[in-house]
Amino acid sequence: MPETTRQEGRIAFLGLGHMGGPMAVNLVKAGYTVTGYDVVPAALEAARAHGIDTVETAAEAVAGAAVVLTMLPSGKHLLDAYRGTPDQPGLLATAAPGTMFLDCSTINVDEAREAAALAVAAGHRAVDAPVSGGVVGAEAGTLTFMVGALAEDFDAVNPMLEVMGKRVVHCGEHGAGQAAKICNNMILGVSMIAVSEAFVLGEKLGLTHQALFDVASAASGQCWALTTNCPVPGPVPTSPANRDYQPGFAGALMAKDLKLALNALESSGVAARLGPLASEIYDSFAAEGGAGRDFSGIITDIRDKSDHQPKGQA
Ligand code: NAD
Repeated sequence: MPETTRQEGRIAFLGLGHMGGPMAVNLVKAGYTVTGYDVVPAALEAARAHGIDTVETAAEAVAGAAVVLTMLPSGKHLLDAYRGTPDQPGLLATAAPGTMFLDCSTINVDEAREAAALAVAAGHRAVDAPVSGGVVGAEAGTLTFMVGALAEDFDAVNPMLEVMGKRVVHCGEHGAGQAAKICNNMILGVSMIAVSEAFVLGEKLGLTHQALFDVASAASGQCWALTTNCPVPGPVPTSPANRDYQPGFAGALMAKDLKLALNALESSGVAARLGPLASEIYDSFAAEGGAGRDFSGIITDIRDKSDHQPKGQA
C-alpha cells in the first residue's frame, strides 16, 4: 500500500452496532477519515445519520484503507469476514499489503490468535483490542482497551484507541488483549454471584442491606460487584439495582464472556471450578429472562430459587 494512504489513515470500520456505531462517531469527531460498513442496512442508515460515510460492500470500505477496524458479534463473524467465501474474497485478500487489522470484538483467545496469524500470513499487521465500558463508554469515549499486539503495532494504533477510550493497556502479543478481558470478566461474574448470595443470606439472617454493605464494603468482602454495581437497591444509588436492573452490562454479554472464559479454561487445562459454574449460572439466567437485564439481576434469580422456609422447620 502506498505510504501516503497510510499517513492519511483512512479507517474502514466494519460493524456499526451498539458499540461500533458510537466508536466510529468518536473517530470522525477526532478528525479521522472513516468509511463505515455493516451487513444490516438499518445500522448503515443510523451511522449515516450520525455523520459517518458509509459504503454498500465491505470490499469498497477495505480497498485502500490504512486500518480495518472490526467490531463484530463473534469470532466466527470475524474469521468468516477475514477469509471470505469461494464466491467472495475476504477482507485479508481485498486489503492492500501492510494494512493494520484492528479487531475490537470480544472473541475466543484462540480465534484472536488465529485471526492475527491469518492477517500476518497475508502480509498485514494485526492487533486484538477488546473493550470494557459498554455502550455508555463507547458514546463518551471512555472505554478501556486491552491490547494484544507487537510493540510497534501497539504504538501505531494507540492514538486511535485513545480517541475512543480513556485507558489503553498493552497486555502482550497477539491474543493477550482477549485473554485479559476474559480473565477480568471471569472474576467479575464469579464475584457478582458471591456478593448476591451473601445479600440473600443476609436477608434470611435478618441483616439489612445497608448493614451488610457498610461492613463488607470496608472489609475483606470489598469488590467492584459490591461497591460500584451493588446488586441490591439503596447502598449505591447509581447501581442498576436502583432502576430495576436496566443494564449496565447485560446478562447475555456476561453469559457470552463466561463461555469464552470456559473455552479458554478447557483449552488450557486449568482445574477451575467456579468459572465453569458461573458460566452455567449466567447461561440459565440469560435463558430465563435475564439476557437483557443487568447481570447483577442474578440476585433476583438466587432469591427466587431460595427456600422460603428455613430447612428443618415445618
Ligand atoms: P451489535 O450486535 O450491536 O453489533 C455488531 C454489528 O456487527 C451488527 O450491527 C452486525 O450487523 C454487524 N456485523 C455482523 N457481521 C458483519 C460483517 N461481516 N461485516 C460488517 N458488519 C457485520 O453488538 P455490540 O453490542 O456492538 O458488540 C460488538 C462486540 O463488542 C461484541 O463482540 C461484544 O461482545 C463486544 N462488547 C459489547 C459490549 C456492550 O455493552 N454491548 C461491551 C463490551 C464488548
